[in-house]
Amino acid sequence: MTTVQAKPETFDSLNPATGEVVGSHPIHRAEDVQAAVERARSAAEWWAELGFAGRAERLQRWKGAVTRRAAQLADVVHVETGKPHADAMLEIILAIDHTAWAAKNAPKVLGPSRRSSGLLMANQAATVEYQPLGVVGVIGPWNYPVFTPMGSIAYALAAGNAVVYKPSEYTPGVGRWLVDSFAEAVPEHPVFQLITGFGDTGAALCRAGVDKIAFTGSAGTGKKIMAACAETLTPVLIEAGGKDALLVDADADLDGAAEAAVWGGISNAGQTCVAIERVYVHENVYDEFVAKVVAITRGVRPGFDDEANIGPITMPSQLDVIRRHITDALARGGRAVVGGADSVGERYVQPTVLVDVPEDAEAVREETFGPTLTIAKVRDMDEAVEKANDSKYGLGGSVFSRARGMELARRLRAGMVSINSVISFTGVPSLPFGGVGDSGFGRIHGPEGLREFGRAKAITRQRFRAPLTLTTFARTKKVDAQVAKLITLLHGKRR
Ligand code: NAD
Repeated sequence: MTTVQAKPETFDSLNPATGEVVGSHPIHRAEDVQAAVERARSAAEWWAELGFAGRAERLQRWKGAVTRRAAQLADVVHVETGKPHADAMLEIILAIDHTAWAAKNAPKVLGPSRRSSGLLMANQAATVEYQPLGVVGVIGPWNYPVFTPMGSIAYALAAGNAVVYKPSEYTPGVGRWLVDSFAEAVPEHPVFQLITGFGDTGAALCRAGVDKIAFTGSAGTGKKIMAACAETLTPVLIEAGGKDALLVDADADLDGAAEAAVWGGISNAGQTCVAIERVYVHENVYDEFVAKVVAITRGVRPGFDDEANIGPITMPSQLDVIRRHITDALARGGRAVVGGADSVGERYVQPTVLVDVPEDAEAVREETFGPTLTIAKVRDMDEAVEKANDSKYGLGGSVFSRARGMELARRLRAGMVSINSVISFTGVPSLPFGGVGDSGFGRIHGPEGLREFGRAKAITRQRFRAPLTLTTFARTKKVDAQVAKLITLLHGKRR
């Protein structure tokens, strides 16, 4: 008797600009996820044994293939997210650069390094190295479906792990493309696998016995993921949302600041975790700055055609959030200097700039994730810092100031800050990326991002038998007294 396998249930991925179905993908159940993790387990052994050089060669091969077919990948991003093709290219370019950095720098960052063994253990040679964790589960969002998950995927692979990836249900086709292109470059073992579906599939990945979950998405889902991972003490990295502020000082380059505020807030239709959502401007330059922002914003046009500056809202439920934030801000005395209550359409949101919005309004406190900005006037930069920091989020930020940029950047409660530009930190592969508070914890990118996917292994090697051996029952009272004397000499001095 032959058993007929039930066809897996599927879901459709839609073009948010037209509603057209652009792909159909399986809804993987817990047992499918478990099977993928088991396959990954043996692939991980092979991948780890390749060593840094073997992995780097394969990652470079993959990077080359992605680069040569970037326009094709950008097409998939364009139809699944609705973002302009050129913006899709931009995130792919950044992801390629990060992959190259991770592959090249993994040996230096994670390979064996000597540590000083100290006076008490002077007879020991001390080394540390970062060994692969094993299998890493990556759960990704839809807003930058290449760049964002690749911040975990490329770094986890470079560190020697296999990856099981669950993309957002809005961008499964982009996930499929990435995994298929990797399998062409590295056909030997399923080192990088895809599972698709909704939240339940992601939750199953948390419970499937992976060695770490790297999550990027909303803070609310991040909390659910931590709770699921707590059941098995699976470590997590959480890259969640933000409510980033841009500060404009009295001496700032106002043209640069206005351009940065509009691009930082409205590009990708505001659907950027490190989007500028709030602007605090010194009172001396406030009117001039607002006028510049208004002029630039009026030229930004949503659409799906080649000339459009921003696309539709990818996730339809977000339209209600954006509408609520705008209407609430206006009801509480805010004014729209561009756009307004009727900015939110069925698929698109017209760029909207709000002023005089009370600090306790949702538009100032909650992540809007739409093409909107609030601009507030401040007495001085101390007030700007205080207001910027009065948020449960703390992801990125930006400061425009000629004299005080570094000082203000340091004082912002955020993981990353750009001075006199916006979002630039994402383009520097050697810099860590991550937040504080409800924006999450842990870091992707840079050496810190590589170390997230390695386990520190400490090794001591005895070079000769020490005159004062401490780890023996043969230790004498004389040795104890000598050690006590030594430690007093070293650390007991009154200052
Ligand atoms: P989301 O939290 O709705 O979903 C993210 C992923 O989690 C999806 O793949 C989803 O299927 C999965 N998921 C949902 N419920 C789950 C559960 N219970 N268990 C496991 N997985 C589950 O987020 P989104 O709408 O896709 O993305 C937008 C959010 O992501 C915004 O808040 C944005 O700021 C944030 N984001 C953060 C960064 C960063 O690096 N900090 C980058 C991009 C986006």
